[in-house]
Amino acid sequence: MKRGYADMPKPFKLAILRARHDPAYQYIPDQTCIEMVMTGTQSVLRYWSDTTHGYFDFLNSALLPWVEVTLTPPNTDRGTQVTTAIQAVRAANPGFDPLAGFDGVLLFTLPGGQIISGSFSGWDGGSGTLGDGRPYSTIPVIPSTGVFTCHELGHTLGFEHTFGIDNNGTDWAPGDATIIVGPEYGAPHDIMSAESFGTRYLGTGPKWSGNPTYRGDYIPNWPADSFRWRGPHISRANLHHFYPDAFVGGRVVEHPFPVAGQSGRVRLGPPSGRGGATLLILHPPGEPGTGVGRVYVEYRPARDWDVGLKYDLSNLSQAGLVVHTLETVAPGVERVWYRGGVPMNGIDFDFQLSGSALTITLEAFENDDNGCWADISWALGSTRSATIQIGDPIITPLGQSGSKEGRTPCGDVTTKVTWSTSTLTFFSVRTLGFGGSPLPGTQPTIAWHVDGTPVSAPSGTVDILFNGSTFALEYTIDPLTFELGVTSRGGERLEASVDVIASEAGGRPSSSGSARFEAEGWHEEYTPESVAVIARCIDRLNRYVVVEDGPITPHGPGPVERPDPIHIRQFAEEIRSGGLVLHPRTQIQVDQLSRFGL
Ligand SMILES: [Zn+2]
Repeated sequence: MKRGYADMPKPFKLAILRARHDPAYQYIPDQTCIEMVMTGTQSVLRYWSDTTHGYFDFLNSALLPWVEVTLTPPNTDRGTQVTTAIQAVRAANPGFDPLAGFDGVLLFTLPGGQIISGSFSGWDGGSGTLGDGRPYSTIPVIPSTGVFTCHELGHTLGFEHTFGIDNNGTDWAPGDATIIVGPEYGAPHDIMSAESFGTRYLGTGPKWSGNPTYRGDYIPNWPADSFRWRGPHISRANLHHFYPDAFVGGRVVEHPFPVAGQSGRVRLGPPSGRGGATLLILHPPGEPGTGVGRVYVEYRPARDWDVGLKYDLSNLSQAGLVVHTLETVAPGVERVWYRGGVPMNGIDFDFQLSGSALTITLEAFENDDNGCWADISWALGSTRSATIQIGDPIITPLGQSGSKEGRTPCGDVTTKVTWSTSTLTFFSVRTLGFGGSPLPGTQPTIAWHVDGTPVSAPSGTVDILFNGSTFALEYTIDPLTFELGVTSRGGERLEASVDVIASEAGGRPSSSGSARFEAEGWHEEYTPESVAVIARCIDRLNRYVVVEDGPITPHGPGPVERPDPIHIRQFAEEIRSGGLVLHPRTQIQVDQLSRFGL
């Protein structure tokens, strides 16, 4: 068993056929086809291997030689294309069946369309079943994207469409007056909703768009640039619905719905994680044998085949937690249905399943070189809250405003300079209990107040009152994340309250949080030369040790001037009170002052 991969890969021997119907187009070289369809890091077969935890390995699949075919409009539908190509392949291999033993067919038709009125018109592409029951996909080369190709091969492997947000994916004649809106193709994070991904762009109703795809590398000698487009993963939900066996070795974590007061927690990795759980399934009370009503939760950061997922909150295809359920879409037909999630770049950190009290919370996540995981909890209900998170203050020295001299216990002269500083502090907000919605633009709205005065995006100046005086603070508000940045002027030591009010889009009851902005205005520090002098002095002091309650005695080589104990005490006080900024190594030596009982 290879750790992290399926114990028992599903055998699927794919026959990749290539048929040219227009000799004006050069054959795509074998090496290009092998690279882009079979073995390359961005190839279609690699995609399906990666996105199924290695469940499909396509062992013994084959790329068959090009054949010439004649296809005459209007007889160019996907079924005619594939049966014509298969006839040509069999005619070229008399005496045996070159397709014997294959589980399915992926056909590339070159170019896959014809010139009509001076512009190229692509033919029907898609998937179906051959007369002998084997599945096939037909890909007209020129008009097809890699996304479409991966989607169609998904059908050949046994996957079906996902559902979710109302969209125009089933309106096959978008140019006519009849506008069709429906939930099929409505999952913004699933290859089996390609290439609509929930996009609603027709008619006068509300509009939104989902786009989880990305443009991959240039493909030498492939005649259509559009084949570069790739992504996203198949949702873990849809993968599990059709092939639960792809989730061996702890890939899926399953629990019943919680009861009141109960909660659970799990860490999930991304779909292409090398090991560990990638899917949480919560089973409702009384779940039927079909599994209808179960809830799937997965973590989808923008990486690997998901690198096209978005962080901008305006697109349906947000990186973050993604929630699907299993629903009945026709008698006896169950499909995975997108319900919403928690965008990583949003301010709202939980999601309540509509029509249920079930709440999924994004507790923490990481997506960088240190790791890629999300800690997810679940419970019934959620308490509405808004919490301010304060960043570390960014203190900028603006200029030297004074200096004063002093002496070390050893008698050296030191110089301490005063710097005027401005302080920039970022305040971000995290809300819970606002429900969440699958649609963009429905996060809570955020209102900031500084010293009780409302401040609004994108930036400005706000006057505050501190200790009877008025000071001006500059502020910025990020229009996307609502992050507030407050900057003080140099030389002004002050504090101001920072408050936030979160409201639901409809203006319903809100929640608030408070914090404080603090600016030191200036600080004192020794010059680098003085720090070196002080370090030398401490070195000398360190040659004394306290023996129990006895006198300070010299320790180490050389005669040492015995410093004045009162002076040492003052020096230690200053160091302890933070008035001395030293190199960390010197700081260790400073700690040894305790040996003097100081
Ligand atoms: Zn389809």
